[in-house]
Amino acid sequence: MWKARLSELEFDEKELLGVVDAFDSQWITAGPRTEAFEKAFAERTGATDAVAVTNGTAALFLGLKALDIGPGDEVLCPSLTFVATAAAVVQCGGTPVFVDICSLENPTMDPEDAERKITPRTKAILPVHYAGIPANLDQLAVLACTRGLALIEDAAHAPGASFAGRSCGTWGSAGCFSFFGNKNMTTAEGGMITTCDPEVAKRLRLLRSHGMTVTSWDRDKGRPAHYDVLEIGYNFRFDDIRAAIGLVQLAKLEAMNQRRAELVQRYNDRFSESGLDLILPFASIPEAKRPSYHIYPVVFPTMEERNKIGDLLQKDGIQTSLHYSPVHWFTAFRKVVPGLCLPVTESFASRELTLPLYPSLSEAQVDTIVSTVVHCYENSGSLK
Ligand SMILES: *Cc1c(COP(=O)(O)O)cnc(C)c1O
Repeated sequence: MWKARLSELEFDEKELLGVVDAFDSQWITAGPRTEAFEKAFAERTGATDAVAVTNGTAALFLGLKALDIGPGDEVLCPSLTFVATAAAVVQCGGTPVFVDICSLENPTMDPEDAERKITPRTKAILPVHYAGIPANLDQLAVLACTRGLALIEDAAHAPGASFAGRSCGTWGSAGCFSFFGNKNMTTAEGGMITTCDPEVAKRLRLLRSHGMTVTSWDRDKGRPAHYDVLEIGYNFRFDDIRAAIGLVQLAKLEAMNQRRAELVQRYNDRFSESGLDLILPFASIPEAKRPSYHIYPVVFPTMEERNKIGDLLQKDGIQTSLHYSPVHWFTAFRKVVPGLCLPVTESFASRELTLPLYPSLSEAQVDTIVSTVVHCYENSGSLK
């Protein structure tokens, strides 16, 4: 039994009632609830449109497709991310070009390294808001604009996050969100693409459903049964059962993120008091960035200490994880980028440990986790 798992659901009877309502309505595929969820999500982020899709990976793939990323095109993305960010680029026929992170304190895409890696084939910049820390969107947006590149955000960690008052996911042509079970808000599986470009929105809606001009829901509302297929598309549709859950989760998002913020503050305070030699990315967030606190990463002085403490915590019932093994280290990607070295990413990934974080975690649990880390450290004989 875990004393603290890495993440837990924040579900109650409201999600259940939403699902029951969807069942009772007799319409379970994409319909009125999906439309309401898209509208509410667009409003929440300030985007003009939001398009719900099967999952976050599909959101990235369709976002890239809608911006015509294809064979021969290079897309700048971090390697310190979930594999889906880079895989979506490859699935479109493009080539991911991995960019280092700014620093151990700011593990998001380094705009200077991004600029160095621009070639005549570069088409887009795809930053990730790692752990819910907004990337340096001001610099990245300027870079994209001055070099004529598309900006697409992997905002899987960042629902509710913003930079200078503007929501993550609305800084470029498309923002891609995931509602997987461990994300800040979840529909089990699910994803959303936000955009402020009506042409992109139109293309996304077409590609999501076979390139068809009419949806089943349109037909149910009395639209003619005849339709045309404007381009070869996919089936990446969302459904009204998940939308019912998503509407409830979205309504809770602000409060859930606020609770995450409080717990992160508690972790930061306790770790600072402990005097341990740790880097806490959430302890040095600039004023303009409003994070969504998706996960709580800690950077240890060495990989040995990280590994040892991770093992000891697991044995003590505290679930930990690593975010992430860099994408360029994976077998399938070594072939794509042989010999690539990203010093800051590699240093971060070798020394990072992710500790439990979810809204229903208690202050007492945070204190226990921190004292367990401190205790493990003392026993490992390297307290600084
Ligand atoms: C979860 C995640 C994805 C993929 O989302 P799915 O909904 O699981 O397909 C993409 N990028 C990042 C950074 C993620 O954390």
